[in-house]
Amino acid sequence: MKLGFLIRGAGRIPSPCCGKDMLVIGTKDRKAVDHSGQMKVYNIRRLRCINCRAIHHELPDFLVPYKRYELGCIESVLTNPTNHTVPADDSTLSRWHSWLQEFVDYWVGCLISIMIRTNQGNIPPDLTSEVSGTALQRIGRLAGDASGWLARIVRPIVNINLWVHTRSAFIVQ
Ligand SMILES: [Zn+2]
Repeated sequence: MKLGFLIRGAGRIPSPCCGKDMLVIGTKDRKAVDHSGQMKVYNIRRLRCINCRAIHHELPDFLVPYKRYELGCIESVLTNPTNHTVPADDSTLSRWHSWLQEFVDYWVGCLISIMIRTNQGNIPPDLTSEVSGTALQRIGRLAGDASGWLARIVRPIVNINLWVHTRSAFIVQ
């Protein structure tokens, strides 16, 4: 059985591409598996930037673009690799771990660039260096390691249109 939900964000969302208004041009269904293994269907809005006409999809806080499991599932597996209750098979779990290793440098780079653009806080030194700790430690120094750290990476990067799904997408740029 699938459960369906309507996702409707409140207020104005600036377009990730241009920071302009977006028009709602339709909806689409987005599936995601939750902590109990239940598949849910979320009806999210398709939005179009009034400036460049790029299409975006509303992203609820509990989802990661392109991921089939809810953000909280992925975060708990990455935080507690040997002590979680997420009902995913081993190959899915190991894909999430490789995903973190593969993207951590890119995410750290994006977050630092956002901090520089918005003049926020002090950027911890040496974060881009491999010697400065594990992926989670490096992320923790930028986004904190309290619950919700994955959302604190995903949201700001999605909001400025820098979220990428495949490694090649940012290597060739
Ligand atoms: Zn645009």
